[in-house]
Amino acid sequence: MSSAPTPTDPTAFGGPDDGGAFVDLGLRAELLHALSALGYEEPTPIQREAIPPLLAGRDLLGQAATGTGKTAAFALPLLQRMPDGRAGGDPVALVLVPTRELAVQVSEAFHRYGKDLGARVLPIYGGQPIGRQLRALDAGVDVVVATPGRALDHIARGTLRLGELATVVLDEADEMLDMGFAEDIEAILEHAPQQRQTVLFSATMPSRIDGMARQHLTDPVRIQIERERPVAGEAPRVRQSAYIVTRAHKPAALGRVLDVESPTAAIVFCRSREEVDRLTETMNGRGYRAEALHGGMSQEQRDRVMGRLRAGTADLLVATDVAARGLDVEQLTHVVNYDVPSAPESYVHRIGRVGRAGREGVAITLAEPREHRMLKTIERVTGQRITVDKIPTVADLRTRRLELTQAALRESLLEDDLEPYRVIVESLSDEFDLMEVALAAVKLAHETTLPGAAEEEEEIPQVAVRPPREPRTGATGRERRPVRGHGGGTTQVFVGLGRRAGVRPQDLVGAITGETGVSGRDIGSIEIADRFSLVEVPYALAEEVIAGLRGSTIKGRKATVRRDRDGEGDLGDRRTGGRERRSDGGDRRRDQR
Ligand code: AMP
Repeated sequence: MSSAPTPTDPTAFGGPDDGGAFVDLGLRAELLHALSALGYEEPTPIQREAIPPLLAGRDLLGQAATGTGKTAAFALPLLQRMPDGRAGGDPVALVLVPTRELAVQVSEAFHRYGKDLGARVLPIYGGQPIGRQLRALDAGVDVVVATPGRALDHIARGTLRLGELATVVLDEADEMLDMGFAEDIEAILEHAPQQRQTVLFSATMPSRIDGMARQHLTDPVRIQIERERPVAGEAPRVRQSAYIVTRAHKPAALGRVLDVESPTAAIVFCRSREEVDRLTETMNGRGYRAEALHGGMSQEQRDRVMGRLRAGTADLLVATDVAARGLDVEQLTHVVNYDVPSAPESYVHRIGRVGRAGREGVAITLAEPREHRMLKTIERVTGQRITVDKIPTVADLRTRRLELTQAALRESLLEDDLEPYRVIVESLSDEFDLMEVALAAVKLAHETTLPGAAEEEEEIPQVAVRPPREPRTGATGRERRPVRGHGGGTTQVFVGLGRRAGVRPQDLVGAITGETGVSGRDIGSIEIADRFSLVEVPYALAEEVIAGLRGSTIKGRKATVRRDRDGEGDLGDRRTGGRERRSDGGDRRRDQR
């Protein structure tokens, strides 16, 4: 099944006493090497469970959300099963995903893992020039990662041939069904060889997914990445909160949150060694005393780092799960998850490091918008609430800093021997008012106790995720909100009814303006496809529009309504076979793409 891997560093693929390492899963040396280079220290639970049966050629039905490491769980075995030295030829694997964003992400993951194997991976999705895709397909590929609509286009043209497929993966199958891709997927599978491996991943398992699995999977291994609740009473006293923030703003958000929380000692968990190193450097550059701790370090190095944290010469420890195993720091007040952990148990384990011995601890999670679902899963499994908070603003931070300075001064007034400084105050008081002298002293104290205060001015965008609908007032039960324009950017709302249901742009506008305080002027482009529609609205109004549409009927029917996955719409892709985009013909709601 695999050539014997020869890792040079035994800790590279997981420590000696961990729950299993990549090397134990039967992966070949080239893949182990790529994982080590990426700084992955050990497999996530889904990888541990899925990789061996997939390597053995079994079909698999997996329930797992984004952030669990499911991409590597199917990509690694698929790369390993790829015949060596293929030149030219049709793909041996096809991965279907719901959005172009995911197509790009998944194919990048394949590239990263399959570099040493020379795997040729091609993402294909709507909206991308077809010429480039044709040339790449013509030159020969091993793995195609595609959105269903565009895949079907290529199949119809004869440019994507599925005769050599050994594996088909349906990733985020529930999302694909939600987006109306069921028929496209059926049509694609009809073109795939009967004898093949089929893998289906879905975050939820509604009966439609079950039906799909029964029809297309043969004796599948079933995996569910959600475990039993931790025993009641085991739960530590921890205040748990999360901030939704885009990847690019994470370092700034982390800094802001740390400044407001001012922990005695904090540990920040990252997924990989590489991320640990990068973040440690970034945080040191931002004026924090951060130390890295990861599985690639010698015991002596690790002891030194721990010593500095205990002595208070470091205030932040940036670590991987593996490296932090068995770590016990008295002073620890805060645990930060730089990403949402890949499994609820891991979350529970991490936050268990604070809130001991009756002291209150704080657990903070920085989640990307797409990881919001995973947070919900953790809440469900742990039975504890994670409050989604707004990232503190620059003004919050200033207030907090002044409070800290005031507290420090109060402590000094109560505790310190201030006599040596009397002479300064006395001599200055000849020249200045005592209040003025005190103000200048406070300013200096403020600046020296809180360095870096001046540079922390960057704005961190707040990302909204489904807040509860606002109460309304007035006789009609409605309240006009000020028109906010498109200053905060726009997003698209997906409505699961389209032309086949007779939906026209004016129906959508009518439903929105009739049900919400949103005015027609706030609505941007409207695109109507056969089975769904996309409505562009200002970011700030999206939740209101979604809530309004969910509460109403369109053409007498209830529709699935949610924020569009990739925020850009993928209409060119989802619309195959002559379905086209339409504007309402009005002056404003014209297609803007
Ligand atoms: P996914 O659930 O596939 O979207 O993966 C979520 C993230 O976890 C990606 O950024 C991966 O690079 C990362 N990841 C996947 N497996 C591991 C692992 N075993 N160790 C560290 N990071 C991982």
